Amino acid sequence: MKRILFLAIGLMAVAPFLPVHAAKLNVVATTTMVTDLVKEVGGDRVKVVGLMGPGVDPHLYKPASGDVVKLQRAKVIFYSGLMLEGRMTDLFFRMSRTGKLVYAVTESIPEKDRLEPPEFSGHWDPHVWGDPILWSRCVITVVDGLSKADPAGAAEYAKRGKLVVASYEAMRTWALERVSQVPKTQRILVTSHDAFNYFGKAFGFQVVAVQGLSTVSEAGLADIAKTVDFIKQKKIKAIFVESSVNPAAIERVSKDAGVKIGGELFSDACGKVGDIHEAHGEKYDVGTFVGMLKHNINTVVDALK
Ligand code: ZN
Repeated sequence: MKRILFLAIGLMAVAPFLPVHAAKLNVVATTTMVTDLVKEVGGDRVKVVGLMGPGVDPHLYKPASGDVVKLQRAKVIFYSGLMLEGRMTDLFFRMSRTGKLVYAVTESIPEKDRLEPPEFSGHWDPHVWGDPILWSRCVITVVDGLSKADPAGAAEYAKRGKLVVASYEAMRTWALERVSQVPKTQRILVTSHDAFNYFGKAFGFQVVAVQGLSTVSEAGLADIAKTVDFIKQKKIKAIFVESSVNPAAIERVSKDAGVKIGGELFSDACGKVGDIHEAHGEKYDVGTFVGMLKHNINTVVDALK
C-alpha cells in the first residue's frame, strides 16, 4: 500500500512536466532508408530507433546484444527484407513468433516488379530503393503496420503516407530531367557491388558491378580485369565508389583503366542525418531518402555528362 502511494505521488509530481502526447509509439527499424521511411510516415506520433547508421553494410550486419533489447521493447519492427539483412532473418522470425508486429517493408512490392539477377537465381535483388516509385510501394506496409499498433493514428498515417508517395514521385520527375543531360551512350554506371540494378532500370543506365550482388563476396582479380577491359572499350568517363562498401576494388579498377572516380554514392545506407549538401542551387539532407537519391543523381550526372 505504501509503495502504491509513493508511486501515485511520484506520478503526480512528474505528470505536469510531460508533453501532451508523451506516449509515442516505440518503433525499431533496420537500415537508414527504412528508418527515414518510418519517420516520414509516422511523424510526431512515433519514436523510431534505427539500428544501422550511415556507412553500415546491411548484408554483413550482425545484431548486437543491445539491438535485441531494443527489438524486444519495440511495439513494431520494420526491416527492408528480400534477404538484405541476411544475418538478422532468424531473429525477425523468432520475434514475429512471439506475436510482435514485424514487417518487411518490401513485402508490398509485387513480384513482377522485383528483379532476379541471374547470378543469384532463386533470390530477389533487395536494392529496391534505387527506384523511388518501387520504394513508394513500401509506404502501404508502413501505414498498415503503424495503424495496427496505434489505431487512433490510422487516419494520420494514411494522410502522411500519401504525401510521402507524392514526394517520391516528384523526386523521380526531377531525376529524369537531370539524367536527360547525359548522352545516352554515356549512361553506364560502374560501381563496386550490384546495388544499382533498380536505379539503372528506373533512370536508363546500364549497370556494371565489379563485385556480385552481396558484399559478402570480395571481387576477384578476374572481375577487376573484366571491368577494366569494359571501361576502355566503352570509353567510360568516370566510375563510382560506395559509402558502405570497401573502395579497394574500384580504386584498383580506376588505376588500371586510367579512369577517374566520379564520387561516392550512397548505396546501402543514407548519409548522416543533418548533413546538408548543396548542388545546382538546391540544398538537401543526405541523411534522408530523398536527399540520398538526389546526391546520387547529381554525382552520376555531373561526372558523366
Ligand atoms: Zn547491397
